[in-house]
Amino acid sequence: MDITYKTNLYCLIGDPVEKSLSPVIHNYSFEKNDIDGVYLNFKIEKNCIRDFVDTVRTLNIKGFNVTIPHKVDIIKYLDKVDEKAKKLGAVNTVKNENGKLIGYNTDGLGYLKMLKEKNVTIDGSKILVIGAGGASRGIIFSLLEERPEKLLILNRTLSKAENIKNELNIEKNITKIETDTLDNKNRDLREYDLVINCTAIGMYPNIEEVPIEIDRLSKKAVITDIIYKPLETKLLKEAKNRGNKVIGGIGMLINQGLLSEEIWTEKDIESTEIINYIKEKIVSD
Ligand code: NAP
Repeated sequence: MDITYKTNLYCLIGDPVEKSLSPVIHNYSFEKNDIDGVYLNFKIEKNCIRDFVDTVRTLNIKGFNVTIPHKVDIIKYLDKVDEKAKKLGAVNTVKNENGKLIGYNTDGLGYLKMLKEKNVTIDGSKILVIGAGGASRGIIFSLLEERPEKLLILNRTLSKAENIKNELNIEKNITKIETDTLDNKNRDLREYDLVINCTAIGMYPNIEEVPIEIDRLSKKAVITDIIYKPLETKLLKEAKNRGNKVIGGIGMLINQGLLSEEIWTEKDIESTEIINYIKEKIVSD
């Protein structure tokens, strides 16, 4: 990478950020996609967001990503927030347009793009979402725009699933949204075409855990897990062994990052080679 006086700075802010893969993804992509930029991680504490935003303008940082715990708080420091991010109440991407800071959210879109790449259709489908945290909210929001017939949110804490339903079940939705607790073993789940694990269950180091017993799901369902460490969770291994189509979380992670790059640079970003490179990195780490 040649860094010159013209090179633009991009970054991630959050706390913690030490283990983030974002610099690896973006710096590799900048090189592959011929973008004159460099991407760094900055650990920013809650009481320093305003100072950081001033620095973005002073240094002319062209864009940045926002991760936990600043996705909501950043909004009040921005000049404009895109409609989707506004509805979601969370921003993960900020573009600096001549000093004006504009917020977007690519979290759910990254998941959706991954499904489209794997030829999974959402329109008219029945979807089971396990989990009701930040990632679940972003994914559900994006899925609803694709008009599924029905969506069930299962979560350990029922009130969080209900909150998402109440916030996102806007009048124009044609999707029937239901909620239930994760431990209701009597609920029949065999009608769902697409299953998404949005909980942390099965994530490294607890790789022997599964969010749901595989026998409760249809053998025809597409089973997806947004966890990317490990690349294939126990849920996905069990599903694959009995013939389900399975999709892991690495594609979502990379797509949401590359969608940020598309916003910053207004260029189409090639992703296949980057996904392969990052997969190899994760396995070798
Ligand atoms: P979050 O906001 O903290 O939500 C965590 C979710 O997991 C909640 O639904 C929580 O249930 C549930 N959960 C956690 N431990 C549980 C347990 N032992 N039993 C039952 N439920 C449990 O986190 P998040 O940001 O949504 O992230 C969730 C997962 O997605 C993480 O593994 C994260 O690494 C992954 N992720 C992947 C990507 C990607 O790009 N692939 C992006 C974001 C996140 P309660 O509500 O009951 O606490």
